[in-house]
Amino acid sequence: MSVQDKLALLGGKKAVQKEYKERWPIIGEDEVNAAVQLMLNGELSIADGSGILDEFENNFAHYHGVDYALVQNNGTSALHAAFFAVGVGPGDEVLVPTYTWPSTANAVLSCNATPVFCDIEAGSLCIDPTDMESRITPATKAIGVVHIWGYPADMDAIMEIARKHNLKVIEDAAHAHGATYKGRKVGTIGDIGCYSLQASKMIVGGEAGIAITNNPEYFERMLVLSHYGGRIEKDQITGKYSDYSYTGLGPKYRVHPLAATIANLQFKHLDEWIEMRRTNLDYLSDGLRGLRAIEPFSIAPDCTRGAYYGYRVTYHPEFLNNLPTSRIVQALQAEGVDANSERYRLLHRQMLYQGARHYEQVTGYKWPYAPIREIKYQDSDFPVAVSIHPNLISLPTFTLPCRDVLDQYIEAFHKVVEGAEQLAS
Ligand SMILES: *Cc1c(COP(=O)(O)O)cnc(C)c1O
Repeated sequence: MSVQDKLALLGGKKAVQKEYKERWPIIGEDEVNAAVQLMLNGELSIADGSGILDEFENNFAHYHGVDYALVQNNGTSALHAAFFAVGVGPGDEVLVPTYTWPSTANAVLSCNATPVFCDIEAGSLCIDPTDMESRITPATKAIGVVHIWGYPADMDAIMEIARKHNLKVIEDAAHAHGATYKGRKVGTIGDIGCYSLQASKMIVGGEAGIAITNNPEYFERMLVLSHYGGRIEKDQITGKYSDYSYTGLGPKYRVHPLAATIANLQFKHLDEWIEMRRTNLDYLSDGLRGLRAIEPFSIAPDCTRGAYYGYRVTYHPEFLNNLPTSRIVQALQAEGVDANSERYRLLHRQMLYQGARHYEQVTGYKWPYAPIREIKYQDSDFPVAVSIHPNLISLPTFTLPCRDVLDQYIEAFHKVVEGAEQLAS
């Protein structure tokens, strides 16, 4: 065996010589100057949603070709407002993929409703429409679709099921700003689209979120759930909720003007940054495609990825003598690849969604959410998610030009796969 072939984990030379560290988010001088200006102006809260809040909402709505946008203090509160707006309430059930960040499901709990978890599709890692339809009950009110890692979910199939069963569709596009499904921007296909602008997302406010819709009734209901005072009075449409304009309905989800200012500046770069990630990650995927045991994801025809919040490949251990994923990840790391096992946990396994009993024991409080149908989830109900999840390998999203690093990453994957028998002993 040549020195080049010996795996770094076993003392060979690393395939990736150039360390890749990308600081995210990209904060430019404009953001810094705008932040200073805000403080000099003393604009640290905008109760009526005017000024920069209004400006950002208009820009975001215009980009998506929709009538309404509501900026919030985070993506989770945007989702809460959205589920509330379409009429999700106590006793209702909402279909949510088991493979997503907890926010999608927690927003359903915040409406006193029950998230009902669904399996995912192997190709996209998004909710599987067939499995989803099989979990519909008379209590099902809505679907929380997640365009995971920037891949659009199968919206035609999902919308058809939604129409057939009279369900509302909330698109959680926290991973997918700017992604398109058959020529339409994600977030504009269902009833409401929600985005996170949290600091790790593609465009950031630090902590912020935004919801978009074409439906004035939904906008008004999101508004009255999330805000109060001048903001409701200024932006209400029918006046139906004006008795609540002083108090709101309980939560307060107003965004910090600093976050809205930063997000508004970042937003100008969205298409450019998507293009940069696309160039890098398509190059990486092409370099890995055809490699035994490693499968990059492919985008469905007529769709484009947006935001690229994460990059995953699937490892197929059966092609490498069933070497565990952790061993492959370890070997890649030793080569200098910033590879990691999947960090998202499957939600059907999480205690929060198992109902009252454990919650009451641990917290000493009564289960505060709806009197849910106690769903006993088993891994066998989620064959695709359960089999794929342990074999996902996460890599960086590479925004800035870095072809030399990508070449070395590709080389490292080839080296580890070709040299995998060295790991067996
Ligand atoms: C980040 C994220 C959210 C929530 O966003 P926050 O702004 O952090 O509240 C919702 N859904 C998904 C899938 C996310 O990744």
